[in-house]
Formats: sequence, C-alpha cells, structure tokens
Amino acid sequence: MHVENPLRKLPQVQRLLELPGAEQQCGQFGRAAVTGALREVLQGLRDRIANKGLAEVPDGDAILELCEKRLVEQSRPGLRRTINATGVVLHTNLGRAPLAAEALAAMAQVAAGYCNLEFDLASGARGSRTASLEPLLREVTGAEAALAVNNGAAAILLALSALAQGGEVIVSRGELVEIGGGFRIPDVIRQGGARLVEVGSTNKTRLADYRAAIGPDTRVLLKVHQSNFRTIGFTAETGIDELAALAREHGLLVVADLGSGLLRRTPGSLEPTLGEALAAGADLVTCSGDKLLGGPQAGLILGRKEAVDSLRGHPLLRAVRLDKLSLAALEATMMLHRDRPERVPVNRMLAQGEAGLQARAERLKALLGSGEIIATEAFAGGGSLPEERIASRALALDPAMGVEAAAKILRQATPAVVGRIAGDRLLFDMLTVAEEELVDLADALRKILP
Ligand SMILES: *Cc1c(COP(=O)(O)O)cnc(C)c1O
Repeated sequence: MHVENPLRKLPQVQRLLELPGAEQQCGQFGRAAVTGALREVLQGLRDRIANKGLAEVPDGDAILELCEKRLVEQSRPGLRRTINATGVVLHTNLGRAPLAAEALAAMAQVAAGYCNLEFDLASGARGSRTASLEPLLREVTGAEAALAVNNGAAAILLALSALAQGGEVIVSRGELVEIGGGFRIPDVIRQGGARLVEVGSTNKTRLADYRAAIGPDTRVLLKVHQSNFRTIGFTAETGIDELAALAREHGLLVVADLGSGLLRRTPGSLEPTLGEALAAGADLVTCSGDKLLGGPQAGLILGRKEAVDSLRGHPLLRAVRLDKLSLAALEATMMLHRDRPERVPVNRMLAQGEAGLQARAERLKALLGSGEIIATEAFAGGGSLPEERIASRALALDPAMGVEAAAKILRQATPAVVGRIAGDRLLFDMLTVAEEELVDLADALRKILP
C-alpha cells in the first residue's frame, strides 16, 4: 500500500505568498515579516507532523491564519497600555503619574516637529533648555531659583556632586534609605564623590548629633524624606529649620531630598510641601516630577539662587538633562498647578470622594453582572504619603480558576489589567481606574469569569 508522506502536502512559502490573504498581510506587516512568519509556521507544522502530533495537514488559508496570529503577536509593543486597578496611584512599576490632557497635547506639539528647545526666540541666540520652565517653577513653588533634570535620583546626585565632592555629607541613620530598585542614599553620596558621615540612631537623631559630627571637611547636611516607610514609636527627628540654623553657624548647606514633590498640604497630611521645606531654610530641595507633582519623569531642584547656580556648570548636568518631551509635559503640568490644579490627574484621583468611587464600582459591577463591592484602603504610592490611607471601593471577584491563573490571564489581556490579590479573591480598586477604562476593564474581567 502506498502511504503519502504528509510533509509533501504542506504548501511552499512561495505558493502561500501568492494567496490573496497573504497579499493583504504583506500590505499590513511588510513582505519580509510575512515571509519570515510563514517559514516559522511551516517549520512548526513540520515538527508536529514528524512527531505525529498533527492528524490533518492544514490548507493554505488555515496556514495564513496561523501566520496572521504570529504577526499580530510580533507587532504588539512590549510597552503596553495597562489598566491600574491596584488602588496605588503612583505605582512605580506601572509608570507612576498619568499625564493631564494638556501635558499630552504639549508633548505632541513638540514631538511632531522642531521646537525652540535651546533657542531664545526673542534674541535669536542660543538659550538654555529650562529657561522658560524656571520662572514657572519659581512661581508655583515659591523658590528663589529652580532647575529641572531627568529624574529625582539625578537631582540629588547632581546636587551632592556639585556641592559636596571631596567633602563630607552628614545624614541621620534613620534616613539612609533605599528608595527602590537599589537606589540607596549611601551609594548616591559615594557616587557624588563625597564621604558619608552617619549620625544618630535609626529611631532618634537630635540636633546635637549633627553638631558633634561637623568638621573641617563637612559641606552638606542632608535631609532625606523617608518615603516608603515610617519610624514610629520612640522617635526623634531634627527638622529642616534646626538644620538650617546649624548650617548657617558653620557656613554649610542644607539639602533636602523630599522625594514626592507635594505642593499643597492635604488636610491631616504629615508630608512637608516643597514650599514648607524651602521656607524652613533648606538651601536646595529636590523631588521627582512624576510622583505627587503629577507630571512626567523629571527631577526638580529648587532653592537659593547661589546654590542652584552652582549646579549649572557641572558636567553631570548635561548627562542628566531633561528631554524635550518631558520638558513640554512638565511645563504644561506646572501651568495647571498654577491655574487649574484640579485638572492634574493625580490631584483628581486623590481627591475623589467615596460616593464617586462607589458609583464607579457599581457601574463596573453592572457591566460585568458579577462581583461584590467592598470598602478598601488605597494608597498614594511611589513613596508618597506612606502613612495616609485613602478610603476607596473595589469590585471583588472569586475566579474559579484561582487568583494566580486569573491574574496571569488579565496581564496578557489588551489592555493589560493589574489588580490586587487578597487571599483567594482578586480586587479591582476604583481609585486608580478612570471612568473611560470601565468598558475595557469589564471586557478583560469577562475572560476570568465562568
Ligand atoms: C522617589 C524618590 C527618589 C527618586 O526619584 P526618581 O524620580 O524615582 O529618580 C529620591 N529620593 C526620594 C526620597 C524619593 O522618594
């Protein structure tokens, strides 16, 4: 009996490319990509035939369908839109602050063509890239001088490199923090070419501890906001105002790394604002642009003119400069802080009342026809306001497949969805979900329902 080799039934790449479906794919993805994908699909089929894992050899159209799936998968960007249902507003892993519409428009304007990035339109001479941003930063924060760089870590590194290189930086043992991703204050001081002098203990550092540590090489008294943790109980901390008075006596500088960049104090908040840190006498204050400031990734350096100006000529400034897109977004965000702060998404999210969050949870539940609405405690995140809980609402689901399997399916969805696991339930917190995201969120959640 003659048995035909099933491999012979597989069409050749060239034949497949002549099919009308392939022509359409070539138009969309490019001929080279289609050819490559077809080769890979055919190889996969050959392997399965050889392993007897394939009962029937697919025809040309079926092969093109497999090819299309592969092409779509390959053209999905690695960086994808994600619905943040964690309830953590400034989630560093999920990109921190979403930008205001005004900031997006400013970025698009600048990105699509040329702009006067380092060109002074009034004089026609070369200009500084942060020249137009600086007056705005001064106006909104009350600082005498301002500078912006690539991120908060760069801001503190630049400040210490310029002000303390070859000298000593005094820091409280309670503030030698790791911010995340291995970014530790002792390493930054070392990288800035300065020596770290630790004073006090983990829970208590008094003014006298700083005073006793001052020597001929001391340059900076550094104050670091604890950000992602709190020491509570038997504690003592020295305020910026006391440090500033001590620094003045000895001709030193006070640098305060505030981290999150709070502009207005929220009721009951323990976090100092940028303005308060400056008013307390810090020579320089640094913070991130994409935490409570609600802007793009950036680092702000604010403070006394002489101190800020001493950073301007430093070679590191060029290495950590802000790119034009972030600059456009930061300028637009600062204008909103000046004129319409309620339009900054982070401000809006943090100010949502429980009634609005409850209503949104009910809309999601209605779309889905499933789930239980529960009260939650959400957080600002990003090391901001760590001790402040925000009353919120979540939709809770008990996926029959188990929470880990369900979470994995949601991560693969388009857009991806990230919620919070609580025991054997998945929570989808409304604090960080926008009204416009509800339909997409419900579509994704249907994949984990029976
Ligand atoms: C977040 C943070 C930083 C780092 O800022 P990035 O913008 O993430 O580089 C530095 N210091 C403190 C206290 C922070 O909270």
